[in-house]
Amino acid sequence: MNVLEKARRMLKAKAVRPTMIRVRLLAYLLAHPVHPTADQLYQALLPGFPTLSKTSVYNTLDKLLEVKLVRLITIDEKETRYDAGTGVHGHFLCKHCSDITDFAANPDYTGCTELSGYQIDDCNVYLTGICKVCLQNINKTQKEEKAV
Ligand SMILES: [Zn+2]
Ligand SMILES: [Zn+2]
Repeated sequence: MNVLEKARRMLKAKAVRPTMIRVRLLAYLLAHPVHPTADQLYQALLPGFPTLSKTSVYNTLDKLLEVKLVRLITIDEKETRYDAGTGVHGHFLCKHCSDITDFAANPDYTGCTELSGYQIDDCNVYLTGICKVCLQNINKTQKEEKAV
C-alpha cells in the first residue's frame, strides 16, 4: 500500500472526507517524519499542487489536529511543528541544528499519587540539548582550534 492510500484510509477511518489536500498533506507527514513547520509543508506540497494556499495548509492542519491524525509539537518556542506520528513518543530538540529526533517514550503515570483520579488525555515528552552529529562537529572544531 502506498503512502497516499495509507493516508486516505486513515482519513476514512476518522470519518474525514479524503480531499486531495488532506490526503497529500497527511501522506507527506507520514513519509517525512522530520516535524516540518506549516511553512515547510506549504513549500514541499506546492510543486505538485500549484493552487495551494497557506490558508488551506493551516485549515487542513487544524482539521487533522482535531481528529488527532496529526500532533502539534511545541518544543521549539520559535515555531510550531507538525507530526503524523500519533503514537506516544518523545521529542529531542537540538539547539544547534533545530533537528527534532523521535524516541520511544511511554511514561506510565498510573502510580502517580498527585494525579490519582485524573484522566490523562495527552502526554508530551520534550527534551532539549545538542544532538550527536552537532556534538561531534563541535568537538572536531575544538580539536582543530587547539591544533592551530
Ligand atoms: Zn544538531
Ligand atoms: Zn515525532
